Parts: sequence; C-alpha cells; structure tokens
Amino acid sequence: MLKLKNVSKFYYSKGVIASGFTKINIEFHLGEFVAIIGESGSGKSTLLNVISGLDSYEEGEMYINGEETSHYREEDFEEYRKKYVSNIFQNFNLVNSYTVYQNIELVMLLNGYKRKEVKEKVLELIDKVGLKKYKKTKVSKLSGGQKQRVAIARALAKETPIIVCDEPTGNLDSRSAKDVIKLLKEISKDKLVIVVTHNFKEIEDLATRVVKMHDGKIVSDKEVVKTEKVKNLEVREFKNIGWFNKIRLGLRNTFNIIPKFILMFIVFFFVTISLLSVYGSFRKNEYEESKIGYNYYFNDLSDTRIVIKKTDGSSISNDDFNKIKELDGVSKVVENDLILDNTMWFESNDGSYFNLSGNLNDLDSFEGKLDYGRMPENDNEVIYLTTSYDYYFVDKLEEAITKDYYLEGDTETFKINVVGVKYIQDRATIVGVVSNQQNMIYVSGNILDSYMKRINHERSNVNVIINNKSYESYVAPGYNFDIRPTDRVSSGEAYVSEAISYACKDYYCRNKNLKINVKNLYYEDELSLNISRVYTDKTVGELLWLNKTNPINGSIFISNSDYNKLFNKESYQASVMADHPENVDKLCEDLEELGYTTLQIRHTLENFGAEALKILKILKLVVTIILVVTLFFISYFVIKLILKSRNVYFSTLRILGANFIHLKRILDIEIFTDATIAYLVYIGLTLLVKFNVIYIKFIANIYEYLKLRDYVLMYIILVLMSYLISQRFSNKIFKNSAMTSYREEV
Ligand code: ADP
Ligand code: MG
Repeated sequence: MLKLKNVSKFYYSKGVIASGFTKINIEFHLGEFVAIIGESGSGKSTLLNVISGLDSYEEGEMYINGEETSHYREEDFEEYRKKYVSNIFQNFNLVNSYTVYQNIELVMLLNGYKRKEVKEKVLELIDKVGLKKYKKTKVSKLSGGQKQRVAIARALAKETPIIVCDEPTGNLDSRSAKDVIKLLKEISKDKLVIVVTHNFKEIEDLATRVVKMHDGKIVSDKEVVKTEKVKNLEVREFKNIGWFNKIRLGLRNTFNIIPKFILMFIVFFFVTISLLSVYGSFRKNEYEESKIGYNYYFNDLSDTRIVIKKTDGSSISNDDFNKIKELDGVSKVVENDLILDNTMWFESNDGSYFNLSGNLNDLDSFEGKLDYGRMPENDNEVIYLTTSYDYYFVDKLEEAITKDYYLEGDTETFKINVVGVKYIQDRATIVGVVSNQQNMIYVSGNILDSYMKRINHERSNVNVIINNKSYESYVAPGYNFDIRPTDRVSSGEAYVSEAISYACKDYYCRNKNLKINVKNLYYEDELSLNISRVYTDKTVGELLWLNKTNPINGSIFISNSDYNKLFNKESYQASVMADHPENVDKLCEDLEELGYTTLQIRHTLENFGAEALKILKILKLVVTIILVVTLFFISYFVIKLILKSRNVYFSTLRILGANFIHLKRILDIEIFTDATIAYLVYIGLTLLVKFNVIYIKFIANIYEYLKLRDYVLMYIILVLMSYLISQRFSNKIFKNSAMTSYREEV
C-alpha cells in the first residue's frame, strides 16, 4: 500500500550535503504495527518525514496506493497528508492555547466537516483516550502522557489510514509510555501504524513487524506476527474547511492568547491614533489658516457666513426668509445683517474708562454656559462674550458688572448693564496672527431692533430739507439736524431746536414744512413733516422728558413711527449662516437657484503672508507622508514580531494537511479582527467625546476636522495593512517545507 523504491534523502545545509538515508526499499501494509528501531542518527525520523510527505525526497520512487509521488509538488503533498497520514511526535505538536476539545475539533474542521457533525465524534474520541474530564482544559495544562493521548485522538479524528509516530514515548515516564503504546496498538487494527522508538522493549510484545536501521540503511526487516494484510484502501473524499469555520478559527485565534491580542490591539490602536491625529491636526491647521485674514467691509468673518441680496434688487420678504430657513444646512438667518458688521462701543459715563465693545447679537442665539453672572431678565441687561485677557471684565470683573454703560456718544437712549460674562475659548493663534472670533454683546430682541434702526440710520445719507434748502444730517446728538426718535412727538410732526431757526423762512420755524430724505445702497425715501414745536435749551427737558446731561441742542425729534418708516425698512441684504463650513458651497448653489446673489465671506479674506503659508503647507504635507510611511513600517515589524509566536501554530496546521490559502484566510481573519476592534474602540471613544460623555484631549482636538470619508479611509488603510501583513507572513511560513518551518520553530 505504501511502497518505497530506492528512495534517498539528502540534506543540504550551508553548502554541505548530508545523507538522511540512502536507497531504501520497503513496503508497508494496512493492519501492520511496525516498529522502526536503530541508534540515533540512523535516519529513522528522516524516513518517517518522507513517508508523511513532510519532507521531500531526492531519489527513487514512493508509491501510495499504487500512485507514484515523485512528481508531487507542495500542494499535492498537502493533499497527501490530509488524506493519508497522521503524525504523532515526541513533542506532541499540539496547539497549546486550545483546549483538548478544540485540538481534536481543529483537524476535523480543516477536513471540511461541519461543526455539528464534529461534536459527537470529538467527544467520543476524547472518551476513547480517557480524557473526558479534561475536554475543556487547555492543552498546556496537561501532563506529557495526557498530551500524547490528545495527539492520538487527533490522529484518529483525522481518519487517515496511516499513523506515523516518531518517538511518541520519548518524553513520557514509563507508565504513560506503556499506556500510549497500548492505545496505539488498539487503533492499529485496520490501519498502518509505524512507530519509531529508542526503547524497543516497550513495543517488543506488540509490534507485528520490526525494521532496524543503521547509517541510513535498512539492515533488517522481520515480520514477527503474521498479519492479515488489508488490500483495499478506501479513502474517503475530503472537503475543504468552509468559510464559516475559517471565520470561527480566525476569531478563536484572535482571542485565545490574551497577551498577543492585547499587543496587537495596542499596535493597531496606536496606528489609528497616530494616523488620525497627524491627519486631523493637518486638517485643523489648514482650516484655521483659511480663517486668518482681514477684510475692510465685513466685521463678522465667520467661514459659515453667506451674504445674500435679491438678484433683482428687491427687498427680501418674510416669505422669502421662511423659504431660506427651510434649505438644508442653514443654521441661522440674520435678516438684517448690518449688526454683524458693526462693532458697538459702550462706555461708562462716570469717567472711569470702563468700557466694552463687540458685535450685537440676539440673546436667543447665545449658546453654552456663562462663566460668570446670570442670564438677562430685562431689555437693558446683556451678556458679554469677551476674551480671557479683557482688563475690565477679568481683572476688574466685580466692579465692571456694577456699571451702567452707554453707547458711545449717546448717554440718553442706549444704556446697558452687563449681567453675565462668558469668555471666548481657545482664540487660536497661528503664525502670530489672531483668529477672527469677535467679542459679542447679546441683547434682547427689542433692543436689537432699535440698534438696527440706528445702524441703518448711520449707514444712510440723510438730508433735511427746509425752505427748499437741503442740509446734511449726521448721527451725533447735539449736532444740527440730527434726527432722533421719541414717543413724545406724534407722527407727522417734528420738534426742532431754535438753533436751526436760521434755516427757516423769516427765522421762524413753527408750522413750517420739513422734509427728511434718506438714501442708502438699497432704497431712497422721503418724509414730509410739520414742525409743531420749536424748543430751546430751557424747554427741552420739559417737552421731551429728557435730562440734559449731553448737549442735545440742534437735534430734530420725530415720532417713533416716522422714524420706523424711514429706517426700519424690509431687509435688502441678509446673511445666511451655514451649519458647517462644509455645506457652504452647496447652500450657495441652492440660494442662487432661489434668486439670490451670494457672497461667501470666507472668499473675501485677504491673507497676511499667503506665500509663506503655502510653503508651510507643502512642508507639512511632506512631513505627514514621511510620518505615515514610517509608522506603517514600525507597526508592520512590531506585528511581525508578535506573530512570530504563531509560527508553531501554522506549521502544526500544515502538518495536519491545511493548505496555504486556507491558512492565509484564517490568519487574515485573525489580524483583521484585531484591527477592527482597535478601530471600533477608537470610534467609540470619539463618539463618547463628541457627546460629551468623556473628555480625551487629543481626540477632542481633531475629531471635528475629520469627515466620515477620513474615517472610512482610515479603516481601509487598516484593512489593507492587515492584509499585507498576513500576506507577507504566510508567504514566509510557506517558503519552506512543512517540516523545515516546524523544525525552525521548535
Ligand atoms: P534518527 O531519527 O534516527 O535519530 P535522523 O533521521 O534525525 O536520525 O537523522 C539522520 C541523518 O540525517 C543524521 O546524520 C542527521 O545528522 C541528518 N539530518 C537529520 N535532519 C537533518 C537536517 N535538518 N539537516 C541536515 N542533516 C540532517
Ligand atoms: Mg529521530
């Protein structure tokens, strides 16, 4: 059944040729229990390895079941091992990190059995070798004798006709040795069992045939017990391990050696963190740099801001605003965006120089938590968002908070009290330029409206026409022709100062006509009023209920409703804030479709030293690439080192007859699982940081700048990396014959 004809085996090592055995002629049959004896170095192991298809032979022919094997390649020998031969070694050759059950199951899975089919058989075999109590015990915890029983059970599970045992008792005490030999004898009934041993005595009574070797040759071959030689060798068809079981083994291997799992996890986690934080900080800088710059026209330079006007120049109605608010990616619509670009300056009027300044904003849009004080309760109360190095609102905060503040140059109408303070976080400074985050004064909607009118007023050209003569009007209390709203005057009327009597016919203004003409970028309007009163310095207080701290002489007072007619027009220009810089482009397209002209504020910035920034950017890119490549190789070598401990496992599987592609898949799955877990842990942490459950600085620093696409890319890199590592590693194991790679490791 198994026949060697003039077979020789040579070893080549370091240029020296050694002979394993020469010109062996022998034939084995089913039913035999063969003992091969001979002194050390006589070629016994070499012969067994050749018979097992673990080593190649250089000369002669070996026949299995009548088929010649000298043309066999490695894949054919894999098949051969799987079909015909089980091995039992002196050092057991088990998977130490697997349980007894798993070791035996392994070979059946590799032979393509389904998991369900396997269970009964494995338990039966465990029972047969007397290890019922130990089926869930890790093999590493067993004694030598017990290990060898597992090896025998595994050999039986493989269901091959030939079982080859190389010094199976070499590491056992004499009692265990006796048991093992007995067990081997028991299973040899319809199989061919070949046992190599030093200790002939232990096998003497049981062997049916004794072969003696000396110096690479067979010197005697005696059949001591006549056996009935079973002629028909029936080999069942073997399937290959299925996907499901490959995944199971891959997963088992991922977790069954905990320190290995942790080390691999750390490496992949480290790779994920490093790549993402390098990439993330690169993106962050890019983003911050894009925000640096200045602009002569706009004050609020948020990168999410889009300034819009109707393309046909008409005003934007409430309906229009509602439509805009429904667009995707809109976070806020500022209907009259003049407030965004006007820095308002407030100062205390007690000569103490306390002051504050910033852009006005609606209290409703205040986000976050106050660092000091409380939320406003009435129209005069405001929240101040300022820097953490603000002298008045940090060093002198207790005092600053008690003061009354007036709009610069107007101690009458616009008084505020700061009741809450919040400090601007992280005003990033890059290459010495301070980013554009503004101080903000959050006021109630009512107050915001009146400021709006005032700003609109300031931004318009206003002329007062009396007696057919036109006089320019400036917004500054106390100047002649300054227009001021009051609820003491009824609509259609105006109170004027005697200081402008010179403009009226006959120096007499009462009941004469006065026109106010307003012109600005968007509209022109004129209002005709009757001068019903002329006031003097003395009568102004009583007439208008004003306390005269500032000179108001020269102003023209009109009713609030008339003032609204002139300055509280519909919006002509508004700002749309996108919820994310990413969405600005798309939003602009949508707005243009609705009939607006758009201007992205971020495109209006002029940069200091743009050239220098460009060079810096290229440099950073180069550094990043070098870093990524280096990182890749470092992790690659670390993982290779960790995987070295897996060599024994894979050569064991090869000896069992597993082929390259299946082993590679099992390894793929193992590494891939490790990488995926590391990746998912990172993603999990990112989500926790995002939803404020925990705070991890390096993640918090970058996650906003990474997009879904970056995370996907990162995962692809990890998967690719695990694939490459697996590829390289399995190629290396399969470079040598199964026995050589096994020998190298043990
Ligand atoms: P045994 O098992 O009978 O002790 P071996 O089969 O191990 O003997 O060895 C037979 C001969 O082959 C010895 O001379 C030994 O030095 C040589 N040999 C065995 N294995 C190798 C090897 N891997 N490389 C080179 N020579 C080897
Ligand atoms: Mg030997």
